[in-house]
Amino acid sequence: MFTSALGLAAPWRVEKVELDTAHRRIDFELTCDGMRLICPACGLSDQGICDRQKRDWRHLDFFQYEAWLHAQVPRITCSGCAKTTQMPGPWAREGSGFYALFEALALSLCQELPVRQAAALLRCADKQLWRRIEHYVGAPASSTTCLR
Ligand SMILES: [Zn+2]
Repeated sequence: MFTSALGLAAPWRVEKVELDTAHRRIDFELTCDGMRLICPACGLSDQGICDRQKRDWRHLDFFQYEAWLHAQVPRITCSGCAKTTQMPGPWAREGSGFYALFEALALSLCQELPVRQAAALLRCADKQLWRRIEHYVGAPASSTTCLR
């Protein structure tokens, strides 16, 4: 059920869900079932996994619960292009610790509110928001101004 609620598709699925009611937090452990995957660099199919690296993403809150995704993301060694490439997760921009939907919400809030206020609402550091804003619009950093 959670696999489809999170919009995941094969080979990704939710392996474990941990609900911490005391801290109002929900953690999803994701797993990638594929043993042979498509090379993200050149698109060649049936390539082997060389290792997996632990990654974490903040998701949109689920009913007042702060939600996080965690996964061991496979890196693929390609016999075609000889590159070792991390498999992109279907849920986040490469290099972003924010889940794509959370990122979209965060940036929308930053258009309506001063960044410091948006960060307080999202319960994250305003520096984290400024990194996203700089990535998308290249705005100069100041935590008291609004994007508009
Ligand atoms: Zn390749």
